[in-house]
Amino acid sequence: MLTRTRKAAKPKDRAPPPETCASLLLAWYDSHRRALPWRALPGQIPDPYAVWLSEIMLQQTTVTAVKPYYEAFLNRWPDVGALAAAPVEEVMKAWAGLGYYSRARNLHACAKAVAGEHGGIFPGDEEALRKLPGIGPYTAAAIAAIAFGRRAVVVDGNVERVVARLWRIETPMPAAKTEMRARAAEITPQLRAGDFAQAMMDLGATLCSPKNPACSLCPLNAHCAAFKVGDAATFPRRAAKTQRPQRLGAVFYLRRADGHVLLRTRPPRGLLGGMTEFPGTLWSADFDQAQALNHAPVKAAWKKQMRQVEHVFTHFALKLDVYVAQVKASANAPEGARFVPENKLDDEALPSLMRKVIAVIAEA
Ligand code: SF4
Repeated sequence: MLTRTRKAAKPKDRAPPPETCASLLLAWYDSHRRALPWRALPGQIPDPYAVWLSEIMLQQTTVTAVKPYYEAFLNRWPDVGALAAAPVEEVMKAWAGLGYYSRARNLHACAKAVAGEHGGIFPGDEEALRKLPGIGPYTAAAIAAIAFGRRAVVVDGNVERVVARLWRIETPMPAAKTEMRARAAEITPQLRAGDFAQAMMDLGATLCSPKNPACSLCPLNAHCAAFKVGDAATFPRRAAKTQRPQRLGAVFYLRRADGHVLLRTRPPRGLLGGMTEFPGTLWSADFDQAQALNHAPVKAAWKKQMRQVEHVFTHFALKLDVYVAQVKASANAPEGARFVPENKLDDEALPSLMRKVIAVIAEA
């Protein structure tokens, strides 16, 4: 007798039904949404300026780190016209400590473009948004969906994790991004696209966490392939990590006897562009730290500190030797540098790296 066996569908082949996913997720969002200062409450009309400002700040930065900066910016520059009219140096100073400083320069350039070319009103479609400085595909989609209710596919790290688990996507990151985006598009609804985008982000940020997803509480668990197999925490798959290259350098903290310290401004383009720093050497893999004093900004009795400053950038890790010296009150700053009162360093656009230098000096 001929018997037929039916091949069981592999978990990853089972696509969640799109409308079901969207409606389950939106119902969950209506009662579990995170209260965030930039988010419109139910029934309120979102403010595109607030959405844009928050989305730029949230790039590569946590909600907790962003909140105080967002509130300070909104208090100081309550609309795009006010921000456009501010001097860029003030914007850079207000951004100091938030990292990825090209965002601050682009933020200001974008405010000027919206104020000057769009009459102070953000455009609502993705294509026009992407033409503005600092707005890439993700941010354009987020603003179009959240601020204007347009159907746009919004995929950040949280959404990638949720989608990777719903479909058990085996392709490692970053190659999986194309498939993740296509899967996210499948379940993005026409209506309430902004709420849906924020619901996916909230699910990823709360229940569908990287290490211990709370699947029993998840509104999508009946449709989640990874939950069914029991290996959700192993998604998204990652390619083997490559070690960050190491760079070395030295930084010089020069005090004047009248309580001033030497600073300079970095070139406008490139890493930490336009930010303030203590003079230092170039940062390179083969920097000879024994020769550091050949690069000191002035001749002085430099003293090397016990502790180095360590900092991790996206593409490399950095170790800096820290030198300190004092010169007399009449000393002039070398070309390209300036002395500022040491008790006014908080007013300078010093990135986190330079604040670590201050911490090392304070320990000495
Ligand atoms: Fe994430 Fe678990 Fe929900 Fe699947 S069931 S989407 S793994 S929280």
